[in-house]
Amino acid sequence: MPYTVPKLTDYSAATLERAANECLSACTAESREVRTDAGLKSFRDRWMARKNGILNQINDRWLKGAPQEAKREAGIQVNALKARITELVEGAHVSGAGALDNECLDISLPGTRRPLGAEHPVVRTSNEIVSVFAKLGYSVAEGPVVESDYYNFEALNFPPNHPARDTQDTLFIAGQQSKPPRERLLLRTHTSPVQIRTMEKMAPPVRLVIPGRVHRNDPPDASHSPMFHQIEGLAVDTNITFGDLKGTLDHAMKALFGSSVRTHFRPSFFPFTEPSAELYVTCFICGGSGKRGSDPCRPCKQTGWIEVLGCGMVDPNVFEFVKDNGYDPKRVSGFAFGMGVDRLALLKYGVDDIQLFFQGDVRFLQQFG
Ligand SMILES: [Zn+2]
Repeated sequence: MPYTVPKLTDYSAATLERAANECLSACTAESREVRTDAGLKSFRDRWMARKNGILNQINDRWLKGAPQEAKREAGIQVNALKARITELVEGAHVSGAGALDNECLDISLPGTRRPLGAEHPVVRTSNEIVSVFAKLGYSVAEGPVVESDYYNFEALNFPPNHPARDTQDTLFIAGQQSKPPRERLLLRTHTSPVQIRTMEKMAPPVRLVIPGRVHRNDPPDASHSPMFHQIEGLAVDTNITFGDLKGTLDHAMKALFGSSVRTHFRPSFFPFTEPSAELYVTCFICGGSGKRGSDPCRPCKQTGWIEVLGCGMVDPNVFEFVKDNGYDPKRVSGFAFGMGVDRLALLKYGVDDIQLFFQGDVRFLQQFG
């Protein structure tokens, strides 16, 4: 018996669903019986014809006939059913013996190309940095992107109301006014909370790199994005000195940018390190001359130096928060550093707009494949 659209006895969700399922299985069965091109045409007409196709009848009987209070639910069901039927009918093809009559195989046609994916330039840069430190014996740690105020600020020596918090425009999760301030959730503004989380779990010595996504309330422009990536490093042991910090980072920069780069530390301030420094490397684009031919070198602003990261000796106040796990500031010392991966990727690949990394335009990303 060919399928005919039944009249519905009632318009409950269960009845509608049963009717829709019957209709779908009828359509599926008919689509499998199509053996010739003519059969395919009449199958399509039977279901989709504008005047008296089955889809049209469903519209008339199930939707227009529905009482006012059931119209909404019936509309949703009928629309979903129509989408499935349309998909089935459009995807139907001649099958069985009939298919062989109509088909022939042209082995000279090119095959279906299945393009391989590739690492995103930011991910690739991040992996390169991680692998330099992995060779030095650092392990990789990760942590949550939605973080509490305690881990993002307080345990890193940013006390409540400290002005240094203003330097990190923070995106807070809404509706938490009733919670105590240190438990309020935010999108982490740096990967540093993972330092505390790891020190809570692991006794010293530790050597860690922490790659990850961070957020700040920066309006997007060519060099800012509300979402970006950092890599943070932490080494804690007995007798770690600023000399170890300099030696480690000098080696890492040479491994990343070539053995001819020189490094240079300038004093800076971060709440969680003391003393703190910014690390500069000789510009790997102009070789430190500040010029490209007769043109000025833009990436280093003609200075010949590029700032790549912030670093310093872990502030003893930070160790106080994890003192019970073996981090007695009188006994252990350590250094930490953090860098922006996206910025390094921009410099490395000569890209002049950070937004390009996150717009997902395959024409742009393909260049790095
Ligand atoms: Zn330069």
